[in-house]
Amino acid sequence: MPTRHKNLAAAQWLTDGPAIDVVDLTLPENNAFGENAFGPAAQRARLPKSVYRKLQATIERGTELDASIADAVASAMKDWALAKGATHYTHWFQPLTGSTAEKHDSFFGPTGEGTSIAEFSGDELIQAEPDASSFPTGGIRATFEARGYTAWDPTSPAFILENPNGATLCIPTGFMSWTGEALDNKIPLLRSMEALNAAALKALDLFGDHDVHRVFTTIGAEQEYFLIDEQYYYERPDLINTGRTLFGAKPPKGHELDDHYFGSIPERVLACMMEVEHELARLAVPIKTRHNEVAPAQYEVAPIFEISSVGADHQHLLMQTLKRLARHYGLVALLHEKPFAGVNGSGKHNNWSMGTDTGANLLDPGDTPNDNLQFLFFAAAVIRAVDKYAGLLRATVANAGQDHRLGANEAPPAIISIYLGAEIQRVFEAIAKGKAHKSTPRSFLGLGTPVLPHMPLHAGDRNRTSPFAFTGNKFEFRAIGAAQELGLPNTVLNTIVAESVDYMAAELKKRLARRGAALETAVAEVVRDVYSAHRRVVFDGYNYTEEWHAEAGKRGLPNLRTTPDALPQFITPATVQVFTKYKVLDKRELHARYEVFVEQYITNVNIEAETAANMARTLILPAALRHIAMCEDAGIDAVTDEVRGLTEELVARLKVLEAANAKHPAGTAIKHAAYMRDTVLTAMAAVRETADRLEGIVADDLWPLPKYQEMLFVK
Ligand code: ADP
Ligand code: MG
Repeated sequence: MPTRHKNLAAAQWLTDGPAIDVVDLTLPENNAFGENAFGPAAQRARLPKSVYRKLQATIERGTELDASIADAVASAMKDWALAKGATHYTHWFQPLTGSTAEKHDSFFGPTGEGTSIAEFSGDELIQAEPDASSFPTGGIRATFEARGYTAWDPTSPAFILENPNGATLCIPTGFMSWTGEALDNKIPLLRSMEALNAAALKALDLFGDHDVHRVFTTIGAEQEYFLIDEQYYYERPDLINTGRTLFGAKPPKGHELDDHYFGSIPERVLACMMEVEHELARLAVPIKTRHNEVAPAQYEVAPIFEISSVGADHQHLLMQTLKRLARHYGLVALLHEKPFAGVNGSGKHNNWSMGTDTGANLLDPGDTPNDNLQFLFFAAAVIRAVDKYAGLLRATVANAGQDHRLGANEAPPAIISIYLGAEIQRVFEAIAKGKAHKSTPRSFLGLGTPVLPHMPLHAGDRNRTSPFAFTGNKFEFRAIGAAQELGLPNTVLNTIVAESVDYMAAELKKRLARRGAALETAVAEVVRDVYSAHRRVVFDGYNYTEEWHAEAGKRGLPNLRTTPDALPQFITPATVQVFTKYKVLDKRELHARYEVFVEQYITNVNIEAETAANMARTLILPAALRHIAMCEDAGIDAVTDEVRGLTEELVARLKVLEAANAKHPAGTAIKHAAYMRDTVLTAMAAVRETADRLEGIVADDLWPLPKYQEMLFVK
């Protein structure tokens, strides 16, 4: 069938598919939010009061889980799940694959009288022992030591996973080796939240704030993704195997006309978004925003922020729900960081802040002097952390997909810098210059009275090019990739900020110990010193330019361009030191992660190389040969020579690629990774370059792959 006819088929979408009814949303029974999550409301309704209170204490204040309540919680959870049709339960965890894992067990067991009964004990809720031999461990555990444990994370609500043929109760858990090392992304995240809590409480105490009993980190992530027709997806081995197109010439029309961004959402896409949002709402994932993104066929969805551990879990649910439900609409969701060369890639902006149990946001400048003092203190701590551990932050966003995005003129560069916004930057600069001391203590910040100008939430313009931007009352870590999970980047962020807060609290304490030192003066001094020492990381200009690369070099900011450059940051002495000090990851756990990520990089590039070689040989070359035969039949030498020349070039380059990927060098894994980057990826790019030129010559009806034009514009 000629390609164009297939497009017509792909473009057909009938609205008689799945549909969510439009209902009266003023009626409480029509509000589906949270109906598939065992959250506080369900817990209150189903648990004895004392059990509920103990559970809430653990969830809200981080008090140790009282194991004696486990049986009661398990029983209530089981009854709730059975009422939702769940026959099975699973401990749901996040191994170092970057995704989630589940192994289902039935609630039902035989009674011995030929009947069966549903059972679920506290022990089964709290701990399970999946045979874990096939998860990446980075050498923490040999395969013969298959033992791994999952442990219930009560801070994240259990939820129901529905299928047309039944339902499963999913219990968020951490995953560790039998010797206690974290083999997942959840346990370190919880540990890092604890570290930051302890440090921030110390600091707040010095500020005289004794009402706060818990400081927690929050995340709200904006997810970018592509939706393309599934017909094209299944016609492309590269999309199926690697998530990105390894071939494809630039189409005549891209996003140059800016006619897609924030444009009206295509009906089929909107229907898909609505079902995804409805499903997520039922799971208590609070989705807020939807819109078209910059690239054609690119979209974005953003939730309201939540406590980090819950937000990270919900991010997994979001990605999975998106992928699962897109198929209901004949679409496939692409979460790869760079599915289409030459077209904007997809990121995930990680909005991050620190909140207190009294309802304050520590990164909200506020409009009272005291809020301002605190804000300056905590914001300075973030600036210090980002400067001191810029390389490590860069490493948390490193993967094979990200190497096509970071530093391309569309996404933040590989250089980590902070954008504060004009107004906040002015305040810090004034403090650094010591203006703070000129006036009386109450107006020491020297920017007129009262103390600080009221800082509007959106002080100054936005800077879309910054990898780490202050946006009113939170920082936005923008360098994260669309396919990434959020546990690890947030673990790093929490830990390095904990270290900074701790350091600054100690400095503050020293100064306060001097007799008669006013809090205002002491804070101003600490902020001044910290900002002065770390202001090099602050950059308010255009991050995509070569000038910035040169300037950043002069400032001594690391520029780790690729994944193999960045990953060793996980095992530097400075990283090991801070992670060990705050008991988030020990040396072995850090090395394990490093090894797993290097290995993943090598494996992913290898899969890409094999897929590219195979497609070039079995799809593209035959098309070129058919085209040559056609030209020869026509007897027009000029056209024959043109396509023949390109085809010979394709074969030559293909052989280089096959040879490069056939024999990998011996030596360390990181050397191997560098080889994949320098030799294999380069050979792939050469094959692609020729193939993409052939795409422009070979008869359209002979070309074996859907083109960019189809994938991006048939909606
Ligand atoms: P903008 O990026 O335009 O500033 P919003 O204010 O709508 O946008 O916020 C974008 C994202 O930031 C949302 O996911 C939102 O939940 C999240 N966010 C807002 N406040 C916080 C906070 N205190 N902590 C973490 N994330 C936050
Ligand atoms: Mg934003």
